[in-house]
Amino acid sequence: MPETVIIGAGIQGATLALAALERGVCPILVDRDDQPSGASVNSYGIVHGGLRYLQSMNIPRWVRSRRAQNWYIDRYPHQVRPLRCVMPLYAGAPRSPRLFALARGFDRLLRTALGQHVPLPEDGACSRQEVLQAYDVASHGLLGGAVWYDAQLLNPPALLREMLAEVEQRGGVVLRSTEVTGLIEQGGRLQAVLLRNASDGREQRIAADRLFDCGGAQAGRCMGPARRVPSAAVLAFNLLMDIPAPPASDAYALSPTPGRGRSFFFRRYGAATLVGTFYRPAPGILSPEPTAEDVRSALSSIRQCLPNVELDEGSVLATYAGLLPDRDGSGRALHPGDRHLRPGPEGYHMLVSGKLTTAPLLSEQVARRLWPAAPLPRTGGWRPRHA
Ligand SMILES: Cc1cc2nc3c(=O)[nH]c(=O)nc-3n(C[C@H](O)[C@H](O)[C@H](O)COP(=O)(O)OP(=O)(O)OC[C@H]3O[C@@H](n4cnc5c(N)ncnc54)[C@H](O)[C@@H]3O)c2cc1C
Repeated sequence: MPETVIIGAGIQGATLALAALERGVCPILVDRDDQPSGASVNSYGIVHGGLRYLQSMNIPRWVRSRRAQNWYIDRYPHQVRPLRCVMPLYAGAPRSPRLFALARGFDRLLRTALGQHVPLPEDGACSRQEVLQAYDVASHGLLGGAVWYDAQLLNPPALLREMLAEVEQRGGVVLRSTEVTGLIEQGGRLQAVLLRNASDGREQRIAADRLFDCGGAQAGRCMGPARRVPSAAVLAFNLLMDIPAPPASDAYALSPTPGRGRSFFFRRYGAATLVGTFYRPAPGILSPEPTAEDVRSALSSIRQCLPNVELDEGSVLATYAGLLPDRDGSGRALHPGDRHLRPGPEGYHMLVSGKLTTAPLLSEQVARRLWPAAPLPRTGGWRPRHA
């Protein structure tokens, strides 16, 4: 009986495996690493609400983000907590208290109109004094702070481990330390998937009629260079810093130029501060390693965000990095959306999510489209040879 194979035990592959199992399909989930190691486990872990998308009036993305927040909170309440996000606002800057009040009002209106209940505290504002007491941000021109709530994953690797255990408990197979190296097709249809065990190099072939490539920025590689889709990479990384942290329940969104431009999150992480996310184009690279120059450039941005705080390269305790798919193959711009592509033979599907936040929705969508609501008879009989 041909199998259903999923490449990648990141958030995309894990949620797709669960969505398949809910519909009676037993997939084989394959990851080249022994432990979860991709972008999902190195992410900042924020399940974004839609507020940021209201700046560009991207309502569909607002709706998806709100739905995604509910998905995580409903299914894994013990893995998520509300994260109070504070953005200091400055006189004369484009991000003004008035603009935020408008966005908040619009957010509320949309929630009511679309019936989107969000089980997080209400957004609001805080005073200048409150901001300065909580965190040592630039004080010149500071008016106060905008406050909103996102959901935060407490521990992304633990969440993935829980999901993979669930996949196995429900009858799916998880193959770790195994790479999908190629596929075999006949008459334009997928016939089999080629695997190689990363520890002993052993190769095997599984008859499969469906292959879901959830390999993140590496998706598409198993098809070989002739059919590669333009999914180059953007390098994204966070820095764990030995610098003062905001209060434990808060994340501060700070910009190098107060009140405008790109902002970075600062939140407490153990005894240190997690700062991110920094991006740079990295087309064609396979391993997510920030260079010394990447770290220097990130430190320069952090110094501008926190002008009163002393820091140098010795303040960096760790880096957490991952590769993300880009928009056009140049590595210059992240692909923001969630994509279901079919660039290979019949039976080959590629799922590429731009965000951990919305990856589960893409999985649910694809599963709903491909498998009927009523569970099918379970088809998976395959087991690893050494089991
Ligand atoms: C530093 C950083 C911060 C981020 N912060 C956030 C955030 O706060 N909020 C948010 O919503 N998003 C965030 N993101 C984005 C988010 O993490 C990604 O969009 C998401 O995790 C992608 O999940 P994925 O499963 O598609 O890919 P990955 O997590 O990269 O998983 C892909 C998996 O596929 C495996 N694989 C690939 N090819 C093969 C093969 N041929 N055979 C076997 N296995 C293979 C890899 O080993 C890997 O485990 C961040 C990303 C980074 C890097």
